[in-house]
Amino acid sequence: MDGNTGLSPVLDQRVRREQYRLLSNHLPVVLPGSLLIAVLLAWGFWNTADHTAILVWLSLLVAVITARLGLASYFSRLPERPEADHLLRNTLLLGSFISGCIWGSAGILFFDPENAYGFALLVIVLGGLVAGSLGSHSYYFPNFPLFAIPEFLPLMGGLLAVENDFYTLIGLMMALFLMLNLFYSKKYADMIERSIRLQFANDALLERLKASNRELHEYSYTDSLTGIGNRRQFDLDFDQTWQVAETTEAPVCLILMDVDHFKEYNDTYGHPQGDEVLKSLALVLLNVCEEQKVRGRPMRIGGEEFALLLKGDLDLAIDIAETIRESVRKMKIDRGEEHRVTASFGVARAQPARGGSRGALLDAADKALYKAKAAGRDRVIADRKSGAGKHG
Ligand code: GH3
Ligand code: MG
Ligand code: MG
Repeated sequence: MDGNTGLSPVLDQRVRREQYRLLSNHLPVVLPGSLLIAVLLAWGFWNTADHTAILVWLSLLVAVITARLGLASYFSRLPERPEADHLLRNTLLLGSFISGCIWGSAGILFFDPENAYGFALLVIVLGGLVAGSLGSHSYYFPNFPLFAIPEFLPLMGGLLAVENDFYTLIGLMMALFLMLNLFYSKKYADMIERSIRLQFANDALLERLKASNRELHEYSYTDSLTGIGNRRQFDLDFDQTWQVAETTEAPVCLILMDVDHFKEYNDTYGHPQGDEVLKSLALVLLNVCEEQKVRGRPMRIGGEEFALLLKGDLDLAIDIAETIRESVRKMKIDRGEEHRVTASFGVARAQPARGGSRGALLDAADKALYKAKAAGRDRVIADRKSGAGKHG
């Protein structure tokens, strides 16, 4: 079974790529280890087998191992592309098959039925290699059979061909051993594939969760009508601005803006039209902040009330409030001169490093706003005493 779901080719491709990568990543451990075993095997047969055969066999193995290591390192540097995946897969499988053939040839080259010691050595080494490579060769299923079958078959065949019950028994046991290993290699590869899929699904879920958390966070701090910050955002900004100002001596100013006679506007033109006015006001505030390079951001903190926190002195805040007031008056509402929208402003200052409180600043700005309303609206009134010294 290929294991591809066919439901998501991109996911299938990523899973395969991960399987190839796991196979490839194990080569720098597996191959030098197998080379050491090959050297020991050659040493074991040095007195009984033909030296040229041993040296040719060993040289072939060294060449293939070197090529496989070089290719693994080359592929690890390649960008992720489907063509590169295919090439890596074929290279890995071919490498395993050729290695399996070379190891298997030892079962022909060095097997001598008269040499019981050599026979034991071959069974242990070739059997041990198959068992040992089960884990590292099974990340992608066809890889293990491609190595194990050619590695095992020649010796197995040789044993079965000898007319000796004991060798026949060992040959049959090797066949059984190979089948069990092939069976578990498939199980292992399926398990690996499933766990990679689960891992990817987990990663994707986590990403989605993070994105929806970000969205949720954004929603909960944004005013849905105007798109600017809401009361929650204002409270957060207020806390942060205050904390920074406590350590920097810088004054903090608060501008509160309230639309004049807005109830009347709603009553005259309807609530939806009133909403349009609120949206336009938010745009006016944003534009003024951008033009005046104000570092704070406007927020809608109540029905028709807006706030702007500023770092800097009171006169600067008053200037900005004036600019906003004039821009509000100039705002185009398509209602003619007699329905011009205006707003009143209360401005106050605090010096967090010298004491005071957020509540006191809010209160001072609110009182100034109330005075602006009482004095006839469409004006800016500042509390010049606020933040001038220590106050509660
Ligand atoms: P003042 O000049 O004294 O501030 O008068 P006002 O009418 O603006 O003040 P009041 O507090 O009496 O009324 C505020 C109005 O704001 C009442 C309400 O209908 C309107 N309002 C509050 N939130 C919204 C909103 O989201 N959309 C619309 N269209 N109107 C709103
Ligand atoms: Mg109000
Ligand atoms: Mg009002």
